[in-house]
Amino acid sequence: MGRGGMGRMYGGGGGGGRGRLMSGTALPEGADRPIDRRTLRRVAGFFVPYRGRIALSVGAILVVAVFGLLNPYLLKLIIDDAIPNRDLGLLYRYVGLMVLVPILTGLIGVGQTYLNTLIGQRVMQDLRNALYAHLQRMPLAFFTATRTGEIQSRLGNDVGGVQQVVTETATGVVSNLATALSTVVAMWLIDWRLALLSLGLLPLFLGLTHKVGVARRALSGSTQRTLADLTALVEETLSVSGVLLTKSFGRQARATERFAAENARLSALQVRQQMVGRWFFTIISTFFSITPAFVYWFAGREIIGGDAALSLGDIVAFTTLQSRLFFPLGQLLNVQVEIQGALALFDRIFDYLDLPVAIADRPGARALSPAEARGRVRFDRVWFAYEQSAVGDRPSAGGAWPPAVPSQSSVLNPRSSPAPRSFALQDVSFAVEPGQLVALVGPSGAGKTTISALVPRFYDVDAGAVEIDGHDVRDLTLASLGGLIGMVTQETYLFHASVRENIAYGRPDAAQAEIEAAALAAAIHDRVVELPEGYETLVGERGFKLSGGEKQRVAIARVILSDPRILILDEATSALDTGSERLIQAALAPLLRDRTTLAIAHRLSTVLAADLILVLDRGRIVERGTHPDLLAQGGLYARLYRQQFAPNGTSDDDGGDSWAESPVTSLRRGAEP
Ligand code: ADP
Repeated sequence: MGRGGMGRMYGGGGGGGRGRLMSGTALPEGADRPIDRRTLRRVAGFFVPYRGRIALSVGAILVVAVFGLLNPYLLKLIIDDAIPNRDLGLLYRYVGLMVLVPILTGLIGVGQTYLNTLIGQRVMQDLRNALYAHLQRMPLAFFTATRTGEIQSRLGNDVGGVQQVVTETATGVVSNLATALSTVVAMWLIDWRLALLSLGLLPLFLGLTHKVGVARRALSGSTQRTLADLTALVEETLSVSGVLLTKSFGRQARATERFAAENARLSALQVRQQMVGRWFFTIISTFFSITPAFVYWFAGREIIGGDAALSLGDIVAFTTLQSRLFFPLGQLLNVQVEIQGALALFDRIFDYLDLPVAIADRPGARALSPAEARGRVRFDRVWFAYEQSAVGDRPSAGGAWPPAVPSQSSVLNPRSSPAPRSFALQDVSFAVEPGQLVALVGPSGAGKTTISALVPRFYDVDAGAVEIDGHDVRDLTLASLGGLIGMVTQETYLFHASVRENIAYGRPDAAQAEIEAAALAAAIHDRVVELPEGYETLVGERGFKLSGGEKQRVAIARVILSDPRILILDEATSALDTGSERLIQAALAPLLRDRTTLAIAHRLSTVLAADLILVLDRGRIVERGTHPDLLAQGGLYARLYRQQFAPNGTSDDDGGDSWAESPVTSLRRGAEP
């Protein structure tokens, strides 16, 4: 009795013994905060829908607590009544009850655990859904500024901790309170002097519990932080991009060293944590064994002295009750901390839920349908600066698009990294008429990607406006904006799904014939048919590996199928072999037809075909015109062009912006609107 809680609470429990690297629960960080009533109320709100089940569960706990008093009382009856009176019938009845009560208690316990788990899981499910839906609405800037592991940890660990809050913290509080109170009352009823005697020993016990609790908490906090660091380290260094970076710089040994150091710290902490628990357990067990001695001493003296008020059965019942008391009391002493820990968990979740959705539909935002849109894009004196990411938050190492700072090209070619400055775009104005192709050209870091990210509102401008058909993009609904704009980027992302699903991503209801037509236009159909399961072949990170060029063509097919009015194209900088290059060109031709296109140009064919070339440098448009005009001007464009294409051109380029000569020299579209 009562001892069931021992191991869970003080032994290896509480996250101590088992290291959870990737999953499990985060224990209280910030448990030193005062209990915040607002958080408490908000947490309660999540439990309201399940109040019926909660009431049932509390009822079960109360029944179990009262049942716990029955066995000591039956003991007393056997010793004081059945045995002295030599009444076998009575003895059988009491013994039968002593067998029955624990069985009933056990059954109720099982039912109660089921209820708690159910409640915990439902609340967890609600929280996780709310969090995921909220994160989906966060702007891109949030993801470039947040470690991927951090988001996963909140969705996984923190929300997962809710289960523990319900099954352990909340249940623990109620059940310990019920047990302790009922036991004290029962002890008092047996003999108030004995009750005072045992309660008098309590302060010593409680003081000890408190001290050990503090030590354990400090250790558990450090363990959690080390675990988080380790998880983030694994996340950063064992992701595809991380491994690429480590390998390309030959830093494996360093990464392994870092991991080993953190790992060693973790083991050491966990050994210490385990030992604190062990010491505590030893002291408590000793305590348990000793306290009955005092009771026997006092009560024995009384009985020997002829005090008729106390019987032998009283002493046995009393010591049994006493043993029920210590653990619940010890745990209640930590209640404040446990609740704070649980609230800290909720606070971390609420922090995310409360993040403002910086980029959201304005009230009364207009939905511009592809049918009514013409596709005129205009930048009107646009100024834009990236927010500096929060202190301590490193940009994600994932393949986010646009690339997180530092951009890939500046990593590979640090010479060309521009001096730090605040505005990524300064006073940028231009207009693209429906169906026109505009090529963005310039050294890396000039702001080309930034321009392309402002059209679909991945970010909002700081001054000026981006307009589509005369509507400020901030006045259009995000959903309709998404329907108007298609993107083909360098980082082609294929989901772990079939080729068909990947192509139909923007139009899940598309018929197979339409999907195949799009694939045909994107020059990927023939390749798909060759795949083991054709259009049903799983691709993506864990699926069939397509080559870079093939992935790009799948992405092009995806956009052809969704048929957007406006296309944003970030041409691949990596040189493909002539065959792939030719196929990509073939795929792009139908894509550019009759669509407004904003291309970050890396190919000669694109700049030659462009209706307008915008030459960017350090966030400003420094030249604009067509290829022949700009060449004749002899400025930055002419210089970039010569570096790339002149027969004796030096390779003093800006890193990655190579204009690959392509076999298809013109993508010129037929009719201008
Ligand atoms: P380009 O596409 O021409 O290479 P970008 O538009 O990517 O240039 O970058 C323009 C400037 O903005 C660069 O100085 C770059 O470092 C900075 N930048 C790009 N993306 C981010 C980001 N997510 N956060 C902060 N700064 C960024």
